[in-house]
Amino acid sequence: MPPAPRRPCSEETTNRTVFLDRDGTILRDVPYCSRPEDVELLPGVSRGIAYLNEHFKVVLVTNQSGVARGYFTEEMLDRIHQHMLRELAREGAGVDAIYYCPHHPDEGCECRKPRPGLILAAAEEMAIDLPNSYFVGDQLQDMAAAREAGCRGVLIDDLFYIKRNLPRGASPEYIAPDFRTGALWIMAHARSHGLETVPGPAPQPPL
Ligand SMILES: [Zn+2]
Repeated sequence: MPPAPRRPCSEETTNRTVFLDRDGTILRDVPYCSRPEDVELLPGVSRGIAYLNEHFKVVLVTNQSGVARGYFTEEMLDRIHQHMLRELAREGAGVDAIYYCPHHPDEGCECRKPRPGLILAAAEEMAIDLPNSYFVGDQLQDMAAAREAGCRGVLIDDLFYIKRNLPRGASPEYIAPDFRTGALWIMAHARSHGLETVPGPAPQPPL
């Protein structure tokens, strides 16, 4: 199995991290999205990430088995991510690193969620403080990976469909109706768990 690719995007400023799932969490879910023009940030995401950037590293963790399936190449995936980063930057938001699993589910790799391999690789390479970190995703596999890695899961569940059908053992720390609400909860939770914020103008909350 090749090592999980990593794409560092900026300097490290904090060890607290918010991990983000990609499809269905920050981007509209387009199955096996292979074209930059299909990239569409979901409402409130840019502002929400910019808000989190004030106090956290932000790391994308995404399953992209379309690579192993031959639907797109890693170069095409890179173009999609570069386009996504440009769109985020228009609203002052940034992502510190992107980790993705390119493997087929049948390969049984350690990095495909619900396995925690990508989170653990990021934690080691970026000295991330996992117990004070969060994973925002829209799937139970995201919550499982978060739990395995020892960080807190925040489930974006706009229709509360998953909440109504939550299996035993699935334990997101918080269930949010949208990204904005999830980002606000993370900031409030972190403040009540030792996150020191500098006095002065507060970062603009996501609208
Ligand atoms: Zn993998």
